[in-house]
Amino acid sequence: PLPVVAVVGRPNVGKSTLVNRIIGRRQAVVEDVPGVTRDRVAYDANWTGRAFTVVDTGGWEPDARDRAAAIAAQAEAAVATADVVVFVVDAVVGPTDVDEAAVKMLRRSAKPVLLVGNKVDNTALESEVAALWALGLGEPWPVSALHGRGSGDLLDAILAAF
Ligand code: GDP
Ligand code: MG
Repeated sequence: PLPVVAVVGRPNVGKSTLVNRIIGRRQAVVEDVPGVTRDRVAYDANWTGRAFTVVDTGGWEPDARDRAAAIAAQAEAAVATADVVVFVVDAVVGPTDVDEAAVKMLRRSAKPVLLVGNKVDNTALESEVAALWALGLGEPWPVSALHGRGSGDLLDAILAAF
């Protein structure tokens, strides 16, 4: 079986956009409305000749109820079955309480985690990622999933984590 990378984070941080960037096509559903990805969806990916599976998830939220709880459970299941977790945060917004709750869930999983500060669309926004050190997950990777900025370096780091 191929190594599995799970992409998790709260709604609307750009998980599906990042998954599309990683797989090199527009297949994961990107929406301006949070919570569109209901289940975990697996895609084949390849970077520098190495194949892996990338799993897009719906937004993880603490204490979610009803439909949102089912979505959060799917995200946790994706983490449980992953070899590496890519945890996506909105670098422009900065770390939120929900992000911190997600970090606790990720710590319980004991999986290797790469922290992505997404929506770093230009050089001026690069300094915003420094605030993400506060999440305690080590060095944040500045990425613009939308424009592709930093995605090559992130993919190198993902492969190095297998
Ligand atoms: P998800 O809910 O985490 O899967 O987020 P989506 O991938 O559906 O994206 C949510 C919104 O954020 C959409 O309007 C995207 O176009 C936008 N978005 C995603 N990545 C970026 C980025 O790198 N820069 C900017 N400016 N917007 C982004
Ligand atoms: Mg999504």
